Amino acid sequence: MTTAHDHRRLGRELGLFDTDPLIGAGLPYWLPDGAAVRHSLEEYIRTAERRAGYQHVYSPVLGKRELYEISGHWAHYSDDMFPPMDVGGEQVVLRPSLCPHHAVIYRYRSHSYRELPLRMAELGGMYRSELSGVLGGLTRVRAIQLNDAHIFCTLEQVAEEARAALDMIRRAYEALGITPARYRLSLPGPGGKYVAAPEKWRRSTALLTDVLDRSGLPYEAAEGEAAFYGPKIDVQVTDGAGRESTLSTVQVDFHQPERFDLHYIGADGARHRPVMVHRSIIGSVERAVAHLIEQHGGAFPAWLAPTQLVILPISDSELPNATNLARRCADLGLRARIAGPDRGSLGARIREARLVPYQAVIGAKEATDDHVALRLRDGRRLAPQPTDDALTHISTLIGAHSTALWTDTAS
Ligand SMILES: [Zn+2]
Repeated sequence: MTTAHDHRRLGRELGLFDTDPLIGAGLPYWLPDGAAVRHSLEEYIRTAERRAGYQHVYSPVLGKRELYEISGHWAHYSDDMFPPMDVGGEQVVLRPSLCPHHAVIYRYRSHSYRELPLRMAELGGMYRSELSGVLGGLTRVRAIQLNDAHIFCTLEQVAEEARAALDMIRRAYEALGITPARYRLSLPGPGGKYVAAPEKWRRSTALLTDVLDRSGLPYEAAEGEAAFYGPKIDVQVTDGAGRESTLSTVQVDFHQPERFDLHYIGADGARHRPVMVHRSIIGSVERAVAHLIEQHGGAFPAWLAPTQLVILPISDSELPNATNLARRCADLGLRARIAGPDRGSLGARIREARLVPYQAVIGAKEATDDHVALRLRDGRRLAPQPTDDALTHISTLIGAHSTALWTDTAS
């Protein structure tokens, strides 16, 4: 596919990411502008999770083969895993998911029912042994950074946690300017891919069906799309070529809590088994950024844009003011750069910066008055205004993860 909005072509043109045969297929690296987008996205997710009561952990990308034998990945998922490595008489594996690590972290001490729901989150690396033929850009990669979380809770808390996760997904999509193509209730299909526990499947499917029914969201059930340990709600998006993929997911799992013998102490003083809700707001960072590039054609919402403000001094005389403005932007945490007269005519510099949300033109009059004349990416041109007022307004919109470039229509 080589459409106008192919993320691989745009990613290279905009200097966001690339690959090199010497590093390997399916192993993209991020250039500074791509890293800026990724950093903003990761920070958004971490902040949203902290606000929603999640606690963040870090866990290693390697684990003993035994860990994945217990979780069930070895029996049900090893086709997608890299072969184990022999180290000092043991076999270690590049992890295919974060779940087993989080299950083990949960049981590092005992938990009371009063601590539940316990929400554990991590933006962590995982690996998938994709075949070379299917690798491309950021959508099919072998090294994945996953926005993952596991909620350990009682059976009665599952529905509310799943509902809250769907709500976080809805808010994130609003900030990212993404529209879901459809919601999918992903169920098991025929074949030996799934753990055999009919009663657990029935209960978890009933729970997720109820959550979807109450949400009022339209959804379709699809067989053969479940995780090997349980059913899931998948949020599907479509790319420029109309191909569908899963970005976000909410899953109910009775299997791994049992395999790892997880428990909490109930109000009755006895041991009870928690349920694990697996959820991801944006899925893998790679796939999310690929989708964002295609969705916006490189014109990201301002809070994600690699350069948020380009400073355009009309002549060399305004260069000191441009430098001063760049410093004030940096102090506010705004990503700004100067495109001076050495880069061509003002018209050429404006065209070159067409994907930048804000263009601040500084002429002799603006320099004297400490004003800026703002041009917005959508074509609007604002009258010269005090620099501090403009920066405050931009910072407020960016801080709120707004998709609006300017909220004052008096331009
Ligand atoms: Zn998981």
